This record gives sequence, C-alpha cells and structure tokens, in this order.
Amino acid sequence: MSRSDAPTDRDVPADRGPSSPEVAVVGGGAVGVTAAADLAARGADVTLFDRGDLGAGSSGRAAGVLYDAYAEDVDAALAARAMERFRAFDRSLPGFSFTSCPYVIAVREGDSDAEAVPAMVDRMRAHGRDVSLVDPATLGDRFPIATDDLAVAAVAEGAGWCDPASYVAATGERARREGVAVETDTPVSLAGDGPELRVGGVEQPGDSREFDAVVVAVGAHTAEFLGDAGIEVPVVPYRVQALTAGVGGGSASYDAPMVYDATAGAYVRPHPTGLLAGDGTEPVPADPEDYDPTGDDWFVESVSSTLRERLDAVGEGGADGAGETDAPDVERAWAGLCTATPDGDPLVGPIGDPADRVFVAAGWQGHGFMRAPAIGEIVAEGVLASLDGREANDPESPWIDAFAPDRFDGDEEFEIAEGMSVEGRVRE
Ligand SMILES: Cc1cc2nc3c(=O)[nH]c(=O)nc-3n(C[C@H](O)[C@H](O)[C@H](O)COP(=O)(O)OP(=O)(O)OC[C@H]3O[C@@H](n4cnc5c(N)ncnc54)[C@H](O)[C@@H]3O)c2cc1C
Repeated sequence: MSRSDAPTDRDVPADRGPSSPEVAVVGGGAVGVTAAADLAARGADVTLFDRGDLGAGSSGRAAGVLYDAYAEDVDAALAARAMERFRAFDRSLPGFSFTSCPYVIAVREGDSDAEAVPAMVDRMRAHGRDVSLVDPATLGDRFPIATDDLAVAAVAEGAGWCDPASYVAATGERARREGVAVETDTPVSLAGDGPELRVGGVEQPGDSREFDAVVVAVGAHTAEFLGDAGIEVPVVPYRVQALTAGVGGGSASYDAPMVYDATAGAYVRPHPTGLLAGDGTEPVPADPEDYDPTGDDWFVESVSSTLRERLDAVGEGGADGAGETDAPDVERAWAGLCTATPDGDPLVGPIGDPADRVFVAAGWQGHGFMRAPAIGEIVAEGVLASLDGREANDPESPWIDAFAPDRFDGDEEFEIAEGMSVEGRVRE
C-alpha cells in the first residue's frame, strides 16, 4: 500500500484546470464522503450523490468503536492510517472529536478462542501496534471490570471512539469546502457499461449524466446496485445491533476502557449519556430495503446481562440507583446493516471491465467506519491513478491486492461470519 502526503483537509478548494477529471461518488456514508473530499482535495471535480441524507445508511447507525488491533499486515497498516487521520481530524475538522480510550479484548475460561490470543497479539505487535497480552488479575487492577472468569485478555492502547454521525456531517462539510457538489435525496443507478449514471431524483427524474469515473460506495445496497448493471458481487448485508444506556441511575458515566467480551460477542464503550454497547449479530442475509431497524428484546436482554457481569459501574449502580444489581437504563436500541464477503475482506478497486472506470468500496464485515479515513484516501488515489493510466496491477498502484474486487466471481455461497471475533482477526 502506498499513499501520498497530499493535503486532505484544507479549507480552500483545489485549483481545477480544464482537464480535472469528473468523478461521481455514489453513497454519502463515511466511506463515500471521505473519498469525495479526498478526491476533490487532489483536484478532481466531484459530485457526491446520496439517495437520502449524508449518513442515512449504516454510518449513521454505527457505534464509533475505533481501533488498530489487527493481526493482518494490510489491515494493521490501514487501521494505523485511519487512526492517524481520526486524531488529526480531532484537531482540524470542525464539528468532529475523537476520544482516546484503550480497547480490551477479553476471552473467558473454557473458550477455545483463548488459545489464539497470544499469537494474535504477537502478530499485532509485529505490525507495530501497541497491543499487549495481560493476565486477568493485572487487567482487574488497572480497570473497573470483572476479570475472575477470564482466561486471557489483550489491551490495545491506540484505540478510541467518536460519534460516527458527526464524522459524516463534518466530512461532508469538508467535501463542500473542497468544492464537491453534494446532491442528497438523489438516488442514482449505473446507466450502462461505463461511468454513466441515471439520476433518479425527485428534481431530476431520468436525467443521465456522464463522468470520467464512478465510485460506488453504497454500503448494504452494493450487490443490488451493481447487480442492476449486470455486475455480480458477493457482498451480503446482515443485521447487527447496538444500544445506549445510562449507568448508576443516570447519575454516573462509564469511565472505563472499551471492552470486547469475545466469548459473549458483545462490546461496550463510553458514551456522553452513559455507555454504548452492541453486537447482536444476526448471521443471516438481510434485505436492505426491508429490515427491522429497531433493537430486538433478546439483544437488549443479552447485552444487559453481559454488562452486569462485566462492568463494576453497571453491577453496582443498578437501573434505579437504589443499589440493586439490575439492567442498565436502556435509552435506545437499534439495528443496522453490515456487509459480509466470502473471505472477510472488502472489495476496493475497479470492478467490471477496467475501461468502464467504475470503482467499488464495500464489504467491511463490521469495520467500515473505523477504516473509512484510510479507505477514502486509497479510493481517491486509486481512482486518479487509474484515470492516469496506471492499472491496478501496476506495482505502484495504490489499490490493495488483497481487496481486489475481481478475486470473486460474484456467485459464491458462504456463511456470514461476525467481524470482531478473535477467529475473524487471526484468519490467514
Ligand atoms: C449497529 C452498528 C454498529 C456498528 N459499529 C461499528 C463500529 O463501531 N466501527 C466500525 O468500524 N463499523 C461499525 N459498523 C459498521 C459500519 O456502520 C459500516 O461498515 C460503515 O458505516 C459502512 O460505511 P459505508 O460508507 O460503506 O456505507 P453506508 O454508511 O451504508 O453508506 C452508503 C450510502 O449509500 C446510499 N445509497 C445506497 N444506494 C444508493 C443509490 N442507489 N443512490 C444514491 N445513494 C445510495 C445510502 O443512502 C447510504 O447513505 C456498525 C454498524 C452497525 C449497524
């Protein structure tokens, strides 16, 4: 992977000569807005389309857990760059803030995943990530979490959290400052084999517009969007869930690390109103046009029970502040969609005939938000390199081989795997 040091968050739109490439970015989630802003910062003439508002898809429903604890070299490098940009945006992007916070991966006694953790940590460290293996007693001394039932834990120091909706809104503003034309409430579709879009918005029904390149960053709609143009991709949406809750009867804050209880399959992070917890993965395909966006009762019950077991703040405070051990005060529970691929890696790069200049960025297996600052940058550089005649197999190409969209036929059948799991992190 390579990247330039080109500025990416300037206040002044880049100079565009008559030869500026015209690029359409479809999808105003975290990936699309970042790619649009980064393309414009590099001199492209960009139009960003979303069928709803910016952030109307999964990005506006994400938990905002951000970490660099990856065991694969490509993933670790991407995450390091993403975290570097989140931190830089915290200083430079109005309306966005990032909070540093350690991230604990905890595996309980009796869970066979425990055996994989030491090697996983070694690989993360080999890629320069600040992650260490910690024995449960030491973990309990450092953080207010229950550790008696744990076999092993790892702590990633370079992690943090943010509000995903504010990232999309602030990056959307950055895109506008860079000169991106943002067209919301404007659904579009691919019009033919090349970079041409049918713009099906209310104000411009049936309008067809040609670009030099089209970036497809439509999240859970990817398979349907490309399928309508005859391009099959194995990007399967599935439902995941999250909730926010007060702790200590609403009087306390959750002032502790982010914790992923790998055995329970649940995570928690601090939140301005208490805590945010999630997972509730349903490993079955979901219909992006027709899924239930509210949290299920079973999810609320199961995550509440994990929180009571794991967190001192929840176990001691109780829901009503009366000192009872009770469920946290759930304020809101919701569901949204993630996307799975056969090998757990995304599809990022040219799709279909390279001459068609259609590019895709999708299939994040639950990690699309935290990687968006790095992926948007790669998309921007990759599209411009391709338009300059540098193909994806050029050794200098910014595209990442492991994410090449053409590694699949599109008709693969596979089981949906939860992305945060220890197994998912240590895949070869
Ligand atoms: C509950 C929950 C918690 C999560 N937590 C995390 C987390 O902590 N960390 C993390 O990294 N990831 C998390 N994720 C995953 C994360 O939300 C996604 O990976 C990420 O937001 C994907 O971003 P995106 O830009 O690719 O897609 P999206 O945000 O879904 O954006 C796609 C956009 O395309 C638009 N669109 C679709 N079709 C069209 C069309 N035809 N024309 C125009 N526009 C169109 C949609 O309106 C949408 O705005 C979570 C997801 C959920 C649901």
